[in-house]
Amino acid sequence: MSNVYDCIILGGGASGLFAASMLIKLTSGRIKLLVIDGNDRCGKKLALTGSGRCNLSNKNAAADKYHTDCPELLEACLKAFGPDDAVSFFENTLGIVTVCDNGLYYPSTYRAQTVIDSFRFYLEDSSCELKFGSRCTKITENKGIYEVSLKDGSVYGARKIICAAGGSAYPSTGSDGTVGALLKGLIDPKDVVPFRPALTSLNSKMQGIKALAGIRCRGSVELSDGTKVIDSSVGEIIFSKEGGISGICVMDISGRAVSLIDKGVKAVVTVNLIGKSEEEAVELLGSRKKMFGSRTVTSALSGVMPRVLCEFVCRLAGIDPASTIGGLSDKAIKALANTICKMKIPVDSFGGNDKAQVSSGGIKLSAMDSDMQYKKKKGLYITGEALNVDGRCGGFNLQWAWSSAAAAAKGVAADV
Ligand SMILES: Cc1cc2nc3c(=O)[nH]c(=O)nc-3n(C[C@H](O)[C@H](O)[C@H](O)COP(=O)(O)OP(=O)(O)OC[C@H]3O[C@@H](n4cnc5c(N)ncnc54)[C@H](O)[C@@H]3O)c2cc1C
Repeated sequence: MSNVYDCIILGGGASGLFAASMLIKLTSGRIKLLVIDGNDRCGKKLALTGSGRCNLSNKNAAADKYHTDCPELLEACLKAFGPDDAVSFFENTLGIVTVCDNGLYYPSTYRAQTVIDSFRFYLEDSSCELKFGSRCTKITENKGIYEVSLKDGSVYGARKIICAAGGSAYPSTGSDGTVGALLKGLIDPKDVVPFRPALTSLNSKMQGIKALAGIRCRGSVELSDGTKVIDSSVGEIIFSKEGGISGICVMDISGRAVSLIDKGVKAVVTVNLIGKSEEEAVELLGSRKKMFGSRTVTSALSGVMPRVLCEFVCRLAGIDPASTIGGLSDKAIKALANTICKMKIPVDSFGGNDKAQVSSGGIKLSAMDSDMQYKKKKGLYITGEALNVDGRCGGFNLQWAWSSAAAAAKGVAADV
């Protein structure tokens, strides 16, 4: 092979673009670099992030915000290149002005396209070559040279490869979960955890739940396997038209719910519909009883929750929603408060890859060194969602894309 690159980056998504830009910076452009993406443009998924606003990072990015097989390496990677470093790179290298809203970073334009354009302009100004529009079908290695074969018949060689081909979520953006197949022969199958949807909605067959479609509330959720709490989160809960729950805090616990459901273990989400303790809820109901004693329960609570949700909760608590709130006994008030704060929703299915924002699974992080180089294959680096790391909502997943890409770029730059 005559035309051999120093490095090929497979994937022009978040981590691929970051790795390329960082490599150009670290080597002052003195690197023969090629970025390949099957889409006809880069950053297709990045364009969708944060509902088009791109929640770039989170001030509080730390290992406890993620699930992985190797929290120690994750923590070390985030410490070596964390949110401050990423923001500094965006500001000082790519020229993106950022803003921080309650710990969540965005470009000041609140446009994901700003981030994509800045990457693209930076790479176009450099010696980096970009090859879009043809998917990679195979990666092989022969005497230290990696050969990347594309669907259009072209083959490219490189001494090092950064595989930034993403996970399985939102396959319409090009990340379709095929990274394991692409690396077959290079990776030990024992180091691959199958991709599953994470940050997705949860469905329930609970009677009458579909009638709640569209209702939103601010509270908290706790996932349990029937015996212990597995995960929890706080935020907005949305009842979905499929019959079930969604919203940021539900997505946060969904990855663990998916693994329970996969194992056939009972998965129950306990929802606090108002974000108050049971005692506070008893007080709230008591005050409504005093204020509006002659009203029906649903009318008396109209300022607390929508009628349909109130009727649903009343039925679960064994209370007639048409009865007057003034007539409720202390025991009934307690039962109602308990249901409002601890509504148990058994979940038995979930939104698939087309609905999930992130996937769990990928190449095990424990199989990588601190440069995100595969320990069993020199010159093969893997970054971003292709690795077995999935974070909560709030900029954590993009921060992982940047941190892992920075580690790989540092590793490659040190040896070109
Ligand atoms: C709707 C939505 C909203 C999100 N919002 C946020 C947010 O606000 N904040 C946040 O932190 N995270 C968010 N995420 C998650 C975040 O987008 C991902 O974690 C991140 O993009 C992963 O980066 P990556 O580079 O690993 O993979 P990707 O960005 O998926 O990039 C992988 C690239 O590889 C290419 N590729 C794959 N296979 C091949 C092949 N065989 N040949 C050629 N090219 C290939 C794909 O075309 C793709 O461009 C969101 C995700 C979605 C779907």
